[in-house]
Amino acid sequence: MYKFKVEERILSTNEEYAASNRELLAGKNKLCLNVISSPGSGKTTILARTIADLKGRMKVGVIEGDIQTDIDAQRIKAAGAKAIQINTDGACHLSAAQISKALKKLPIDKLDLLVIENVGNLICPSVFELGENCKIVVLSVAEGDDKCAKYPSTFARAAAILINKIDLLGTKHIDFNIKRVRKDIRKVNEDAQIFEVSAKTGQGMAEWYDWLAKSVGDPTSV
Ligand code: MG
Ligand code: ZN
Repeated sequence: MYKFKVEERILSTNEEYAASNRELLAGKNKLCLNVISSPGSGKTTILARTIADLKGRMKVGVIEGDIQTDIDAQRIKAAGAKAIQINTDGACHLSAAQISKALKKLPIDKLDLLVIENVGNLICPSVFELGENCKIVVLSVAEGDDKCAKYPSTFARAAAILINKIDLLGTKHIDFNIKRVRKDIRKVNEDAQIFEVSAKTGQGMAEWYDWLAKSVGDPTSV
């Protein structure tokens, strides 16, 4: 019982920070995405390629969440964007208070798009609101085609879902039924945009960029 109360309080404090982050970003009319996936799905690779491919079209700022290291922030900086690294010291999700601090270090007025790359974890990051406009879920074909069936609530909350590493489809090492995944997504989420991409080869990325450009132009639409 006691534990339940503590958890409730943590969530409500988080919601207060999330609301203030949301207000700050809405006041500046900036789109903010919260990117969620298991470890190794290719979140950072997708972001780095997006930043490099949209150079000159879109200025991106990234908040990187990891349990340890600043490896991902370094990759984002190398791709040409501002990046702030948050180390959670063991916590398996980012909190809105951490985002509030990180936002103070980013030149928000000069950016078109803010992206939060959450800690690799398909479960609890989707419960902690950060003040984002919407959640993006990444699923790679290497993880297997049962993830949406197993973690439906995470997929239910996504505005867009990227199925990554599609360059591996059709090889004998991968069993991934993309039709099944689309069907499982539609059972819990009728509206999410679904993109089939390979951040490695660039396949399918143009459709993702179109969606991004449209959403950056009207953050309230997502
Ligand atoms: Mg990463
Ligand atoms: Zn967590």
